Amino acid sequence: MTMVHKGACFCGTVQIEVAGEPEGMGYCHCRSCRSWSGGPVNAFSLWKPGAVRVVSGAENIATFKKSDLSERQYCTKCGGHVMTDHPPLGLIDVFAATIPTLRFTPGVHVNYAETVLPMRDGLPKLKDFPAEFGGSGEQIPD
Ligand SMILES: [Zn+2]
Ligand SMILES: [Zn+2]
Repeated sequence: MTMVHKGACFCGTVQIEVAGEPEGMGYCHCRSCRSWSGGPVNAFSLWKPGAVRVVSGAENIATFKKSDLSERQYCTKCGGHVMTDHPPLGLIDVFAATIPTLRFTPGVHVNYAETVLPMRDGLPKLKDFPAEFGGSGEQIPD
């Protein structure tokens, strides 16, 4: 039995579902996430594209692409952020806040060198990205 989590944009026009378990969860402290989200960190959950389904409102999803790494998807009616596709990684970040029934269990902090909200939670703090995602993989002491 596959666990399905339902999610929506701020106004509810865009409805999505994710199925199964995410590939990873954590916090991104990068300046881009901060600037786009309006919050100090982005709580991410990463999914294989096949696990993410737009149930309704697909015609109201717009994409903003500042770099090849991130295709940021938001609702054209409310401006609410839904998810960010990372084509080079083959993963989609469905923001933890978008899928409230997902039990958010972060495993890592990324881009911690850019943090404005230090979090002493004992989790690994990567300076940038993991090596397998093209980063240095270097850790910063907690
Ligand atoms: Zn909306
Ligand atoms: Zn980020």
